[in-house]
Amino acid sequence: MGIYTALCANLLFPMHERLKHHDTVAVRRELERTQWLSREQVRALQLSHLHGFLGDAARQVPYYRELFRSLDFDPASVTSVADLARLPLLTKDVIRREFERLKADSDEPVKLFSTTGSTGDPLRFNIGNTRVSHDVAAKWRATRWWDVDIGDRELVIWSSAIELSAQDRVRRARDWLMRSRLMPSASLKPADMDRYLDEIRAFRPTMLFGYPSSMTLIAQHAEKRRVRMDDLGIKVAFCTAERLYPHQADTLKRVFGCPVANGYGGRDSGFIAHECRQGGLHITAEDLIVEIVDERGQPVPAGEPGEVVVTHLYSGGFPFIRYKNGDVAVLDDAQCACGRGLPLLKEVRGRTNDVLIAQDGTMVHDVAFAMVLRDMPGVNAFKIIQESLSHCRLQLVTDERFQGAASEARIRGAFAARLGANVQTDIEYLAAIEPERTGKYRYVVSKVSQIQAGVPAATN
Ligand SMILES: [Zn+2]
Repeated sequence: MGIYTALCANLLFPMHERLKHHDTVAVRRELERTQWLSREQVRALQLSHLHGFLGDAARQVPYYRELFRSLDFDPASVTSVADLARLPLLTKDVIRREFERLKADSDEPVKLFSTTGSTGDPLRFNIGNTRVSHDVAAKWRATRWWDVDIGDRELVIWSSAIELSAQDRVRRARDWLMRSRLMPSASLKPADMDRYLDEIRAFRPTMLFGYPSSMTLIAQHAEKRRVRMDDLGIKVAFCTAERLYPHQADTLKRVFGCPVANGYGGRDSGFIAHECRQGGLHITAEDLIVEIVDERGQPVPAGEPGEVVVTHLYSGGFPFIRYKNGDVAVLDDAQCACGRGLPLLKEVRGRTNDVLIAQDGTMVHDVAFAMVLRDMPGVNAFKIIQESLSHCRLQLVTDERFQGAASEARIRGAFAARLGANVQTDIEYLAAIEPERTGKYRYVVSKVSQIQAGVPAATN
């Protein structure tokens, strides 16, 4: 660790956090101890946190006080994390409807946050200082798994409009101190790409952090221009906010000459999981209980896909208990080679409608299409929109290597093989794929009804 990084990690950032009344440093130290506990010890720790958390919710939060009473649910009777399944799921609709009654009668300072979902419907909720400390500390811990720290030169490749508007003067000053630079990549226009490459080369980041789609676009452009990016001393590329596809990870590793670490979480759910050097996607189990559930809200065994449901044990000011965030993931019951007792996710599949439905009702994993298009010369970006069971639109960004009619025929053949012989695939050529309103890119959007699809439906 360089002197400046040490100064940031040990003095400046801790001071910044203390000024904001966050116990982040103490929480991170504790998390760095508990990550080495055995799985049984981690479970025991979760249970003891859960007891206190549910007890506080019953005492301080009108919505939960009444819910527990109506279900005859006594937090003191909880003897295992599995008892959570006795409670209903907290959906976004419930949060919108019960916003006022979800606030705790406590004096902990809270801030109002809002996220914009893919439907464009904002979700508003409060986050207390305790929760912020835990989420920041969990991210900090995971950063240090990769031999980098706060204060190392960080390039943030971010396209969310919300994040950018928060770039006020204080934030800019902090980022400058912590050597974190933001590269707004909202549109990533081809004309700006050369400038991005120059900026990255001049900045020489130690780590990259951002959307895998945006980072991959930059990496592909570097390759096309034959600009080297693997000689800058980049130690790791942290991917977040979107599903990370294998072909993106391959491109990033090759171009930036560094390992790729996947992270999973959000403002609403908290810092859910992060990859370690051995490839384990570890759940922040000291702070969060992650359940993977079926369409009835009941937990499914490890290895089976289901909807992600999160209980954030430090969200006391505005409790998230069995919050359904709209993603699909798979738990893993293996033990990671790194020795950490934190449980693992096998896979994060992203949003529930990131699957296509074949005419015979089969769910077709989006990776199946990503593989076909990835291996096709001249395809630089794509987006598949399933309009109906019989109609798909494929948006493509291609270059001169794309072989026109021959490539189109191969694509149509691959789509028909997976979706059904009678499915019509329209191919549209674009200069660039536009991100969603949230600033994120989605490669697969299925408008076919989720219920018809047999995808786990909403349970309220
Ligand atoms: Zn591990």
